[in-house]
Amino acid sequence: MLNFSFYNPTNIVFGEGQLQELDNLVPKDARVLITYGGGSAQRTGALDRVKAELGKSERSLFEFAGIPANPALTVLLQAIEYVRENRIDFLLAVGGGSVMDGTKFIALASYAKEFQGRERELMNFGFNPVPVASAIPFGTVVTLPATGSEMNNGAVISDGEDKLPVFSPYTFPRFSILDPTLTYTLPATQVANGIVDTFIHTVEQYITYPAEGRFQDRTAEGILQTLVEVGKKTIDDPSDYDARANLVWCSTMALNGLIGAGVPQDWNTHMIGHEITALTGIDHAKTLATIQPAIWRVRRQEKREKLLQYAERVWSITEGGEEERIDQAIARTEEFFQSLGIPTRLSAYDLGEDFIGRVLTSLERHGMTALSERGDVTLEVSKRILQAAL
Ligand code: NAP
Ligand code: FE
Repeated sequence: MLNFSFYNPTNIVFGEGQLQELDNLVPKDARVLITYGGGSAQRTGALDRVKAELGKSERSLFEFAGIPANPALTVLLQAIEYVRENRIDFLLAVGGGSVMDGTKFIALASYAKEFQGRERELMNFGFNPVPVASAIPFGTVVTLPATGSEMNNGAVISDGEDKLPVFSPYTFPRFSILDPTLTYTLPATQVANGIVDTFIHTVEQYITYPAEGRFQDRTAEGILQTLVEVGKKTIDDPSDYDARANLVWCSTMALNGLIGAGVPQDWNTHMIGHEITALTGIDHAKTLATIQPAIWRVRRQEKREKLLQYAERVWSITEGGEEERIDQAIARTEEFFQSLGIPTRLSAYDLGEDFIGRVLTSLERHGMTALSERGDVTLEVSKRILQAAL
């Protein structure tokens, strides 16, 4: 096992009815800005319920609407202005990964004097922590299980053709309320996205080179098996509480640091996927579903041992030679994504050979030229991966 430090301060408050805890969780004297997206929080009634709970004490409540999917810097800058004007000192994100990530950026940038007027520069630090000394404290009310943003300190921010990760020790939520019933209103395609994003977060920390992280492997396999068990079920019957609750908890556990501690992490699929979303607007998870199987086809040698372990433990594939078992595991994964209505080829989005050059240009511009757990995915290898994804 590799050395690691594991730190996660987020208080998870899980289950039906837990919104009622908001009054205890948000400081009673705070000037609270509720952030949300393009209208679902209003339509579903989640926003009104949140306001009713916060209104139980004498807080000052403010709202910022309109954080779009793939949170855009231009919109976040307006929120930052609003925070400064109104001396906001607590943020509450009500939404999915985009609202939570956008809120993290607002929390970081609003009172960081050294970046005032140059907030865009906070997007330049990649996987290193941004150099700010504090952030506005915030909580989240999760309405879409997918990203794990509710229990990690990462955000992914978009600015035109740039979609980049931002990290800080100050962007762990203070708390996150996970009430599975708040997700019942999701359209099937967003639930499917959530299942695929969670699946791929898990395999990016599991199908690497072997590192004897036995607990991490077994936990990752547990998440993957649970997703296979409940995935279709929770799409077909959105109000099956137990199926949805299991998806929600898997999404959080897949990306809160636990399964990635002490083992190599890949993130190749995510880095290529981000470029595709930035160039085309295709949903985050849908880009991942095209790239992950392609990476396994191209890099089966480097990932051989873990692919064989995945085949056996997740899909019970034990018959046939090694190549055949790996082929079967890749096929079963693609069939799973497809069974949720998610295509696994770029051609499904009318993207062909001519698109590959644009992705490679973006990867190069963003310094994504040594990806994967070993840093051996050069632009040339990314090109082969994209060709295998067509
Ligand atoms: P999302 O972009 O937050 O939301 C997708 C859509 O679902 C939006 O239109 C949203 O509407 C709607 N929606 C949300 N909750 C709903 C509900 N309960 N009922 C009906 N509609 C609802 O989707 P996401 O997959 O959670 O987040 C994707 C973003 O997270 C990407 O930018 C991705 O790169 C990032 N990400 C972050 C991490 C991380 O660790 N921080 C990890 C992976 C991905 P509204 O517009 O009304 O909100
Ligand atoms: Fe993701």
